[in-house]
Amino acid sequence: RHITKRKPEWLRVQLPRDSRFSRLGSMLNGLGLSTVCRSARCPNICECFSTGTATFLILGDVCTRSCAFCNIASGSQPAPPMEDEPARVSKAVGQMGLTYAVITSVSRDDLPDGGAGHFARVISQLKQEIPGLTVETLIPDFQGREESLATVLTSGVDVLNHNLETVPELYPRVRPQAAYHRSLELLDRAKAWSISSANGQFSALRTKSGLILGLGETRNQLRRVMADLASVGCDILTMGQYLAPSARHHPVMRWLPPEEFSELAEIARKEGIPTVFSAPLVRSSYHAHEVASAEATR
Ligand code: SF4
Ligand code: SF4
Repeated sequence: RHITKRKPEWLRVQLPRDSRFSRLGSMLNGLGLSTVCRSARCPNICECFSTGTATFLILGDVCTRSCAFCNIASGSQPAPPMEDEPARVSKAVGQMGLTYAVITSVSRDDLPDGGAGHFARVISQLKQEIPGLTVETLIPDFQGREESLATVLTSGVDVLNHNLETVPELYPRVRPQAAYHRSLELLDRAKAWSISSANGQFSALRTKSGLILGLGETRNQLRRVMADLASVGCDILTMGQYLAPSARHHPVMRWLPPEEFSELAEIARKEGIPTVFSAPLVRSSYHAHEVASAEATR
């Protein structure tokens, strides 16, 4: 049984209509770039763009997987990576005056390295051309390939994000081509790399993950996931409400009230995750810049 009622009040937001946003939109269209912010009509776009954060979708907009909550088109043969994409992303980040750029992609199981080399090219070009920019990357699982993860880790990235999305019990239905332990292992390896590369010094790399709530998970299942994330040293966790993109997608099983998000944040901190963003409208990259500024002042 699932709920079909309208969105509760706390999830209704107005998207901005002012001219600054349409100018940014034309600039991004002109460069042939997609941002998750615009294509997913993210409710936080106003706040993120004005605080210098945006999420770019690289490697095309056709995914080789088909998660039940996701609105991205799926197909087995997406177009090959575009060589000039790193330069176009860098130009857009410069023109938007961003201080925090998130780079993400569809899953490219068709490519031998899962697209890791292309991620690394985008990240290194950004780090070279835009001094002071913090780069977070939200990566697919690269089908568990260690070499692909290493390619991204050595590119100069500051925050390595890989979303678990939901509890393991729901993976067969919600993320059929993913594997919970493979995703957890990726975060574990990234943390291990960050500790070993720090060489006793403070390491700049932070690991991060995210969960979407309201897919049918129970509190005990969530608590176990939080404990798992803490056990692999995950630094940052985001939790937000699932909104079904259409009636064909996985149904919303529950609207969690804002107080419950706060309670869950408390539980996650108690389980041992240091930084937690949890509220109905939190998305994977929401308030990402706050982590960067908190770190700059440490
Ligand atoms: Fe973009 Fe993420 Fe901010 Fe949404 S939360 S506007 S996707 S950067
Ligand atoms: Fe969407 Fe990512 Fe799943 Fe592809 S792997 S369907 S982009 S959530």
